[in-house]
Amino acid sequence: MLSISCSPFPRHAVLTRRNDLPSAMGATNPMGGTSFSDQEVFDAFPDVHLTYDNIEHFRGLLQHRLVFNRCAECGFWIYPLRPMCPQCWSRQVHATEVSGDGVLYYQTTLYEGRHIPGFEYPHLTGGVELTEQKGLRYLAPIVGVTGEEVVEDTPVQLVWLDTTAGPVAGFTPRAGE
Ligand SMILES: [Zn+2]
Repeated sequence: MLSISCSPFPRHAVLTRRNDLPSAMGATNPMGGTSFSDQEVFDAFPDVHLTYDNIEHFRGLLQHRLVFNRCAECGFWIYPLRPMCPQCWSRQVHATEVSGDGVLYYQTTLYEGRHIPGFEYPHLTGGVELTEQKGLRYLAPIVGVTGEEVVEDTPVQLVWLDTTAGPVAGFTPRAGE
């Protein structure tokens, strides 16, 4: 008989239909401030495959909050977004906001890409290592400078870019540094 093996750690159900809304199935929104319904998040990011693991990150973007999953047991930040801590295997993982401070880990100039009104090409893009954890890196537009004006380890801070495709988390060199 053919047997199908599966992980001993079943993943959360993946949202495969637009009407499978987490809030309707018991998930909670830990965010304060302006709240956005699951449907509003789906509507704002029609090209993103939203799941239980990543929807709070995208809801956070709408709220101008940069949010990643964090392990409640050991404090490890989890990105890419996953439902289980890769350090201690805990499933006590909660969406948590980062400070928005970091250093530029690498940079590159994009000469073409998805057309987003308000985004001109070429533009500078960088991997930012956030202060919360070594190796916690986020790919984002780097604004206010050219590629010649920044180097590796330049301290940067979060800024929000409002585009017609929704809020985008960007980074710019920290003032005075
Ligand atoms: Zn952990």
